[in-house]
Amino acid sequence: MNEDLRAHIARNGLTYHIETYGCQMNAHESEKASGVLDALGFSAAGEKREADLILFNTCCVREHAEARLSGNVGALKEYKLAKPGALIAVWGCMMQQPGAAARLAARFPFVDIVFGTNQLHHLENMLYAALIDGKRVLMAEPDETIIEGMPAKRSGASAFVNIIYGCNNYCTYCIVPYVRGRERSRKSSDIIKEIDALCGTGVTEITLLGQNVNSYGKDLEGDMSFPELIRGIDRSTGIKRLRFMTSHPKDLTEELIACYGSVKSLCEHIHLPVQSGSSRILAAMNRRYTRGHYLELVSKLRARVPEIAVTTDFIVGFPGETEADFEETLSLVREVRFDAAYTFAYSKRALTRAASMPEQLSRAEKSERLMRLNALVLDYVKQSSARYLGKTVEVLTEDISRMNSAELSGRTRTVKMVSFPGTAEDIGKYVRVGIDRVSNHTLHGKAGIDPGVKGL
Ligand code: SAM
Ligand code: SF4
Repeated sequence: MNEDLRAHIARNGLTYHIETYGCQMNAHESEKASGVLDALGFSAAGEKREADLILFNTCCVREHAEARLSGNVGALKEYKLAKPGALIAVWGCMMQQPGAAARLAARFPFVDIVFGTNQLHHLENMLYAALIDGKRVLMAEPDETIIEGMPAKRSGASAFVNIIYGCNNYCTYCIVPYVRGRERSRKSSDIIKEIDALCGTGVTEITLLGQNVNSYGKDLEGDMSFPELIRGIDRSTGIKRLRFMTSHPKDLTEELIACYGSVKSLCEHIHLPVQSGSSRILAAMNRRYTRGHYLELVSKLRARVPEIAVTTDFIVGFPGETEADFEETLSLVREVRFDAAYTFAYSKRALTRAASMPEQLSRAEKSERLMRLNALVLDYVKQSSARYLGKTVEVLTEDISRMNSAELSGRTRTVKMVSFPGTAEDIGKYVRVGIDRVSNHTLHGKAGIDPGVKGL
């Protein structure tokens, strides 16, 4: 049957476009979808509206992403009328909410395929049903199987690798455990094999992905713990830079902290989402750590590696958050001096405990707090960037700069974005850059120029 599908795709020279919403996890899922489509003979379309298949990879963590998706799918009605043979598929977390797939299918009758987060391995069969049999496909029942060996289309020297799927934490604001299922770790041997193979294709930087990477291995008998996995990857693959996200503060162990500064490839950066500076709100969020514990973790990390970059996530306007609670969030920012932070206004999500909590804040209150938090975070981002002035940093060059086509952009081990004049031949290479100017989030400088100060 697949030969019929492949022949159809080849005969018609079919192309695809993927639109991805949400986190790195979704970005990597879309790489896998591209891998599957390429293997079937599709090619990437130059433009969304030229594509024969438009695939939306959705996110439901915040209401905003859901609203954008509905707007963007709705806008394709005319496209479908003009190009009736084209396929529109909607996939991912959002479709995994109870009844969501059926609702979307009813609201947008021109959508051909709807499927849930863990059903990518059925894509080939779904495409057969739609393209060859002319059927509409709806497949969104929960599925927690781990499928190894799916192709993924990656580009560049930096790659994502999943180590654990799902989440068992049930933070009271978060929909993820309901749509991504229970924690399931991949076998360490499969992970190491994948990284080894990536090293052979020119990848030198890996980001290990999971909703809570610290839980890695707890569901596997006799396999490695997360710190053991980090050491194992460092020891048995040729990887130069190793990162991970996301680490939950309640599970950040001494053993993991000890990896910093002792495991050579582990980069001097940790993304450690705190969410709030108020212990009262952290308890209501079911985060299971206090402000004091979080501060202690940051000082232990800095004691091991003074130059470590600490980045975080914040939610403002959680139900019941008072001005005094919010002031504690601001004071935490002053105390920790984060290198960067993703900040969000609390978004009420169906199924979660916080959705039915009294004392929901108004949109205006949440926006006002978000603006105040962003202004303060930016002060510390600028201070963090200013520390690099006059230093030389090691940059893994990722791409042509989006701001200036005569420049390249890349990141330091501490995840700072660096922009410097250069040509495309240097993409994927490590370059020493002397920093002579900084602008908020970005460092600017010249490759090969060493102002004489040993840098990071
Ligand atoms: N698993 C990671 C962790 O525990 O930190 C984060 C996963 S979540 C997809 C990414 C971020 O989205 C969270 O850290 C949180 O700040 C934010 N987030 C999750 N649910 C939210 C909600 N209901 N409203 C606003 N922000 C939310
Ligand atoms: Fe959501 Fe909490 Fe799980 Fe992160 S740890 S995915 S915030 S429930």
